Amino acid sequence: MRISIGELLAGRRAAQRVAFCEDLEPPAEDVFLTRPVQGELLLTRAGRAVVLTGHLRTVLGLLCGACLARFEQALDFPVVEEFGRVVTAAGEPPRSAAELDAEDFVVKVGPDESIDLTEIARQHLILALPISPRCREGCPGLCPECGADLNAGPCACRPASEMPGHRAGGGRPAEGSERSWV
Ligand SMILES: [Zn+2]
Ligand SMILES: [Zn+2]
Repeated sequence: MRISIGELLAGRRAAQRVAFCEDLEPPAEDVFLTRPVQGELLLTRAGRAVVLTGHLRTVLGLLCGACLARFEQALDFPVVEEFGRVVTAAGEPPRSAAELDAEDFVVKVGPDESIDLTEIARQHLILALPISPRCREGCPGLCPECGADLNAGPCACRPASEMPGHRAGGGRPAEGSERSWV
């Protein structure tokens, strides 16, 4: 989805709301999107720049890094980006690194004055992905010896007393680690 921000850059408009709803490509290996990415984005003029803000949400299909089970997880992620025109000031000497200012973090908009919201959503989604997905907090994963899924209970290799969360007198299990579902 590309939209023009020429009116905003020119100062003929102060703000613009955009309803975003798109099916995006899988953002990473073993990560799928089970819902479209959707949410409301707001474009506002800020001086000579245009600022894009908002929140997008989707539901991820992930692979647990411990037990390899597939599971779904809702994801809500912020979108913040700033855009400005490409300004080529004739005769201006190139600036050194020491002279970098806030404008260097502004995404330059080409002559068509449009921005690609799909690409922006994709980049922000990738930044928001969980680094080591787990089907639940404290997932015990697979037994390194026999490969049994320890979520289903202890395997023959180890007595139940060695299972995570079964430590005798070893303090309270972490919040939310109780098995509230099967
Ligand atoms: Zn797991
Ligand atoms: Zn085992």
